[in-house]
Amino acid sequence: MVLTAHNKLIDTSGPPPKGGSLFFDPGRRRPGRQNNIESMATYYNEHTVLWLDGRFQKAAETKTDLYGQSLHYGYAVFEGIRSYRTAAGSTRIFKAWEHFERLRRSAEALNMPYRYSTKEMIGASYEVLERNKLQDAYIRPVVYGPANMSFNPNTESFTVIEAWEMAPFLGEKLLRVMTSSFQRPNPKAFRIEAKAAGHYVNSIMASHEAKGKGFDEALLTDMNGYIAEGPGANMFFEKDGRLYTPATGNILPGITRATVLEICKEEGIPVEEGRYTPEDLRTADAAFFCGTAAEVIGWKSVDAYEFPLPWQETRGRRIQLAYKDKVIEQQRTLSTI
Ligand code: PMP
Repeated sequence: MVLTAHNKLIDTSGPPPKGGSLFFDPGRRRPGRQNNIESMATYYNEHTVLWLDGRFQKAAETKTDLYGQSLHYGYAVFEGIRSYRTAAGSTRIFKAWEHFERLRRSAEALNMPYRYSTKEMIGASYEVLERNKLQDAYIRPVVYGPANMSFNPNTESFTVIEAWEMAPFLGEKLLRVMTSSFQRPNPKAFRIEAKAAGHYVNSIMASHEAKGKGFDEALLTDMNGYIAEGPGANMFFEKDGRLYTPATGNILPGITRATVLEICKEEGIPVEEGRYTPEDLRTADAAFFCGTAAEVIGWKSVDAYEFPLPWQETRGRRIQLAYKDKVIEQQRTLSTI
């Protein structure tokens, strides 16, 4: 008998079923490797500890269900959060409250049972960081469903918190962006404001297409052809000293996007939210992506159009520096340009 991650006793005394074991056991594979040559991030090793429904346990020894509704149908919700070593040396999860509140709203939007308070989740995340001796880290909570091949609602769900070190998601060089042939999901087809696992098939397809054509990242439009967002980040563009960003409604309303709007207010940078076309972008001075994983990263070009304003002279660069200061709780004066 073994105790599974879901606290169920399973009889393992007989021979394993044809075609493999009952559970995907990450410990048996090369632990924690991403199959992406560019960024061979190690997500976990034999010492890594995760939090699963109130218990701290070894990631390599944790099993999950191959009959799970989340694996089969992409029916799960998650968050992407970063922690930083602050200027004073402590560990701080940036916008922890906002992220775990969004996780709750995402679970509710998908009718998933979710039983933790935001306070509990923040506490558990800090403990995951501490147990893994992490300060600058990426934190990934996931709420997922049990074995269920039907489309009926579940009465239970599982919640895991994982953490690992992760470099800026889109690198640190200016990006060559391609307008994707994929559009963002229609909000009438999905709860677009929720961070649902299944939405990311769209993101992965768009990113594959862009990279396959030699670009760094994709820009997706919404179902009406207006600029929407990247596969995993929101975007802003700059024209004549003013910033523009797609309005909410057809995008994931990013927490970093909200932070950028906050910085614009603090720094007196004029900014507008609205509906913009790819043509608007082709007459812009500069542009950038922003997201928790990507942070703030400038664009070199979109399709064949190269942005004329040097990145160092853009509002985006100012915001990038202000964002860096904010996440490490550094006094703004030190890096003001
Ligand atoms: N849009 C999409 C599609 C994303 O996946 C993300 C990353 N969560 C963002 C925008 C940025 O959101 P946030 O700033 O909250 O990380």
